[in-house]
Amino acid sequence: MMERILEGMHENLHLGTINRTRVGLNWSVVVIVVLIASGLATGLFRNAAPGFGAGVYWTAALLTAVVFLASLLGHELSHAVVARRRGVVVEGIVLWALGGVAKLNGDAPDARSEMRIAIAGPVASVAFAAAFGVSALGLNALGASAIVVTAFAWLAEINVLLALFNLLPAYPLDGGRVLRAGLWRHWGDRSRATDAAAGVGGVFGMALIGLGLFALFFIPTFPFNGIWLALIGWFIYGASRQKRGAVRINSALDGLRVGDAMHPVTGVAPAYATLDDLVEQYLRPGHVDRYPLVDFHGAIAGLVSLEQLGRVAAEHWPSTKVSEVAWPTASLAQVSSGEALAPFVTQLSSVPSHSALVFEDGRLVGTVTPRDIEQVLRSPTVFRHTDRPFATAHGE
Ligand SMILES: [Zn+2]
Repeated sequence: MMERILEGMHENLHLGTINRTRVGLNWSVVVIVVLIASGLATGLFRNAAPGFGAGVYWTAALLTAVVFLASLLGHELSHAVVARRRGVVVEGIVLWALGGVAKLNGDAPDARSEMRIAIAGPVASVAFAAAFGVSALGLNALGASAIVVTAFAWLAEINVLLALFNLLPAYPLDGGRVLRAGLWRHWGDRSRATDAAAGVGGVFGMALIGLGLFALFFIPTFPFNGIWLALIGWFIYGASRQKRGAVRINSALDGLRVGDAMHPVTGVAPAYATLDDLVEQYLRPGHVDRYPLVDFHGAIAGLVSLEQLGRVAAEHWPSTKVSEVAWPTASLAQVSSGEALAPFVTQLSSVPSHSALVFEDGRLVGTVTPRDIEQVLRSPTVFRHTDRPFATAHGE
């Protein structure tokens, strides 16, 4: 349903592995189950088949909600299978409050692959809808209970809705990805296509927020939950903004190397020194805000920043070792100075320190912290870079 941009969508409960894809739940998925089950138990099922006890309606409603989750999972698995076939690494699938997320690691290699990956989900949902619809008709003909027939008919309907809703050209929904793929193919420019599709997504997000709130207050018979619609709109709006920001950062960093952003090493300090010794003997006045560390044998042992020193009260400096407050080597990225900067910035966000040691021919030559990246993004040369791909949008 919605992919990848959700860094906050963690897996709380690991369900298992289906077809080599890791599948999990976020606790917020309970919201879907409760919304659906309560709607079915107190409304649809009771009206379609009156005369049963509340326990019967609720049991049928909960089962139906779980089957719906399974069909949602099928939608995401379909994305995942095609993505893997197209050479995109699939980290896993998480079901959460607003649907499912197939977490893809990296971008589709070309526009055609992007199109196939995006369309695979809605195609699966339509197939599920057909299967549930045929089952409903068959069960009805066999004289099954009205609750069961209604449940299958509802599952068919909701899967059609799921496919249609996801085909809205609102990036990052599937339809928005289809739009992105089309523009990508048309312009031959992935960044421009992403920016444009995300722009359209932002407008749709705002419109859904407006529609959801309007329905909540003024249309009591509106078939969807207004808060739900507004939340989805808010999510789409946020995700599209985030994507546009990422596109701009990427084009700003385009053509630069890690060496362009790094802070050169001017000295190292021993990891086994106390904070007191570090400050008195190693720190030089100036603009250096971090020091690479070495162990007894002179091997690189981590990185300490002035910020980390500042977190320790001065009276503890004589008794605290630098290694106790510094980032150990394992929590730092290691990179060669000649590597391209844009993909490296993405990699930086995946290490705990968000910082890196930079090597050249096996020798430590510099360090990179988030501050260095900010500085590169603020520098005037980079502004020229940033403006270039978007100049046409301003009519220049
Ligand atoms: Zn989808």
